[in-house]
Amino acid sequence: MTAALFTAVFVAALGVSLAAKLWLAYRQTRFVAGHRAEVPPAFADRIALAAHQKAADYTVARTRFGVIETGVEALLLLALTLAGGLAVLVGWTASLGLGWLGTDLALIVAVALVAGIIGLPFSYVNTFGIEAKFGFNRTTRALWLADIAKGVAVAAVLGLPLTALVLWLMRTSGSYWWLWAWLAWIAFQFLVLALYPTVIAPLFNKFSPLPEGPARSAIEALLARCGFANKGLFVMDGSRRSSHGNAFFTGFGRAKRIVFFDTLLDRLAPDEIEAVLAHELGHFRLHHVLKRMAWSAALALFFLALLAMLASAPWFYEGLGVPVSPERPGVALILFFLALPVFTFMLGPLSSLYSRRHEFEADAFAARNASATALVHALVKLYEDNASTLTPDPVYSAVYDSHPPAALRIARLRTT
Ligand SMILES: [Zn+2]
Repeated sequence: MTAALFTAVFVAALGVSLAAKLWLAYRQTRFVAGHRAEVPPAFADRIALAAHQKAADYTVARTRFGVIETGVEALLLLALTLAGGLAVLVGWTASLGLGWLGTDLALIVAVALVAGIIGLPFSYVNTFGIEAKFGFNRTTRALWLADIAKGVAVAAVLGLPLTALVLWLMRTSGSYWWLWAWLAWIAFQFLVLALYPTVIAPLFNKFSPLPEGPARSAIEALLARCGFANKGLFVMDGSRRSSHGNAFFTGFGRAKRIVFFDTLLDRLAPDEIEAVLAHELGHFRLHHVLKRMAWSAALALFFLALLAMLASAPWFYEGLGVPVSPERPGVALILFFLALPVFTFMLGPLSSLYSRRHEFEADAFAARNASATALVHALVKLYEDNASTLTPDPVYSAVYDSHPPAALRIARLRTT
């Protein structure tokens, strides 16, 4: 491989992924707008035309906004790499006299700050423009800013030590550094998983025990029926920020918690909440969570080994517009994570396919252990409340959606 050839491969991959994203967005907006006039027959008795049209408009607005964001991200990537932005930052951080580790950390922080600052207006318009326009936003500007400040603080406290450790391993632990870095990454995943429910999440939201009542009784009966040790049922004040509803598991082992957004509890009947939880339990019982963690660990090992190979290849640096810097592991690290998504975009459909199979399996688990009808009713309410389109473009959905389209999911539940 030569630097010029790698530049050509990179530009071609970026062009292909950009063209694919634009084509998919075009398909999605055309398909959704084309099905806006009529509620699909399977939902006609439960969803009003106005709600269906709101979902269509919301989907189109978000897809169009996503196109602008995609374009800006591509320009930023080109500015940092081929146009020489990263080369300037590499030179500037070297001039600070911080020692090799401090110099590389400064480089990574500088790139993260540039990307973060460019992302801010998008987050702002998404929250106070689109989400507000469709009646979902409940966050204030003060809360939005406080969330960003806390997010940066958490990223710094957790991310900087990990980055420093990986850089140190890259530079000092020989040609198998990537194996050590992989072990560090896995330990870090467990640390975050352990800290999340009790330390990180409470920085952003209030968690209170799920009150006694018919919903709690139904949930406890379901957990007992499925042989699931209950270490805590919590309600989260999701309504502080948004009216979107959700339920999730956090933590692992003995520290596992089940968390419901208050918005979900307000909206669903007890048997519907039970069915939604049964679906989530299905993900655990069928080992989906473990399988996903194993997959991401395997991918991380592969990518770290790839990075180890690229970090010693001059064409990798020169091909992306950066001076060859084998003595600065931070340069290879940041370059790798900037360029990687251009090449992994093509894997999106595979990961979506895998995830959608799990969703069908979890739905079938819920149908066996709770009520399929209640789950259908819950899903219809959630689709309506979240203004999720019932008529996504099939190709767009196959590439991006981690969940099967509503019509397929519900059709399958109705036949179980
Ligand atoms: Zn699921």
